[in-house]
Amino acid sequence: MTSEPIKTGGKVEPLRKTRPCPECGKPSSRENYPFCSDRCRTLDLSRWLTGSYAIPVSEDQTKADGSDD
Ligand SMILES: [Zn+2]
Repeated sequence: MTSEPIKTGGKVEPLRKTRPCPECGKPSSRENYPFCSDRCRTLDLSRWLTGSYAIPVSEDQTKADGSDD
C-alpha cells in the first residue's frame, strides 16, 4: 500500500465551521459567534440571567464519592 502524499490546500475549509445559531438555528455569523445575530446572543444571555437555563448542580459534589445508585 502506498501512503497518500499529504497535500496542503487540498481541502479548503472555512476559518470556522458554520454552526447553527443555538437560538434560532440560522447560520451563525462571525461577529456574534456562535449566534447568528446580536439579538440571539442577547436572548441567550437573558435566558441565563433569568435562570431559564436550569443547570442541575449537585451541591453534594464533595460528598458524592461515585456511589449514587
Ligand atoms: Zn439566531
